[in-house]
Amino acid sequence: MKVIDKKFYHLFWTDKTCQDIFAVHRTQLLEDEVELIVTREKFFAQRLVLTNSQKRKSGTKLAKRTENESIEVIHNLQNAISKYFDEERIETVIKNKFGKTIKKIETDFSKSGGWLKLLLKIISSLESEEDLFKLLSDYHLTPKEITTKEQFFKYAETEFTTHLKKFVKNKNLSELAISIDLVSAYYNHKLKNNLVTATKHYTDILYNEDNYKNRLDFFDNLYEIEVIKGGVLKSYYECVNCPPNSYNGILTMNIKPSNLAMKCPACKKELYYIVPYELNKTIYNHIVHKDGLLFFAIEYLLERHNYKFIKNNTFPPDIELDFSLLNEDDLVYEIIEVKMFKTDRPKDTQVGNLREAVSKIKNAIKKLVKIAPNYKTIQKSIVTNLIDNIVLKTAKSELEKDLKEYNIDIYTINDFYQKVKKN
Ligand SMILES: [Zn+2]
Repeated sequence: MKVIDKKFYHLFWTDKTCQDIFAVHRTQLLEDEVELIVTREKFFAQRLVLTNSQKRKSGTKLAKRTENESIEVIHNLQNAISKYFDEERIETVIKNKFGKTIKKIETDFSKSGGWLKLLLKIISSLESEEDLFKLLSDYHLTPKEITTKEQFFKYAETEFTTHLKKFVKNKNLSELAISIDLVSAYYNHKLKNNLVTATKHYTDILYNEDNYKNRLDFFDNLYEIEVIKGGVLKSYYECVNCPPNSYNGILTMNIKPSNLAMKCPACKKELYYIVPYELNKTIYNHIVHKDGLLFFAIEYLLERHNYKFIKNNTFPPDIELDFSLLNEDDLVYEIIEVKMFKTDRPKDTQVGNLREAVSKIKNAIKKLVKIAPNYKTIQKSIVTNLIDNIVLKTAKSELEKDLKEYNIDIYTINDFYQKVKKN
């Protein structure tokens, strides 16, 4: 573990706010669908977005303004396209450039099973850069000489600029400078829209009104140990008290979270802000890892308290145990399984999650006792991020028989922390 990870996990085990935020399932913590400039993508965003929209009203007002702006920006952009670009010429160039491709695809499709072969080709070529560019060149999309991404980007850039000159209507060229402002307005609008959407996600998970100040202190902590980094992603500020376009803008800044608040120069009210911070890559990787961040937090805790253990102990073909604790004779005396679930699901779903976790261990043990009979009796601990008392009680009483027979205990994060400290 790197120093920064250790600092973070130390905070995790000693700061309740850190636990509250980072012990939730990755889909609750990070936005998993991000609107980029051209497309909506499914992936986890490597950022945390801070905002003062706990005054929800200003958030709603801004969202409404953004909608109106969206209609306006797209309208202007459509006008600009027909004014500055020669659509007939664009069509001719595309036909010239990709005519061969379209023909080849048509021929391949007409052969029997052709579409299937093409699909397989695409899938297999995605695994290697070289194969991908070979495929693109087979379909006359790129010249044969291009075999790497770098070459491709250079090629695409020159291609684009050569043709761009043909696309633009010369007679309107004098006005083109204005449209550059329009393009930047479009870009800024997209960026703002992206942040507004993110805010809806983060206000629920990162804030609740009564501990707003505490949370900012906590984020200052994260900032100081560099788990979140400023100066990378663009932020948005706007006065929602003044009429639209009185005071707003996109800023890049590297400021600690508790200093983000600024006042409107016109009305002196606090500006509404949405400020994304880049998440440290390692911590991000831990969050999106299939075992979840809690797995790494527990690894840190065991190391810190000098436990001897094996991580991800595997027994082919299909058994993997998260942590196996070892005694002085290097014999396993306890198994720890880490289970992160979505905490915003109905209670019976959460109970179902625990039921499944127990039955998974049970099945693994049934196989393991064939190799080592003592696996049935050694202690098994399930550590879960679920915190609802009713859920935990219900699961424990419903599963009582199995828990006893297989010596399984279910721990919350805090209970497990107490247990590790005691031993
Ligand atoms: Zn104002």
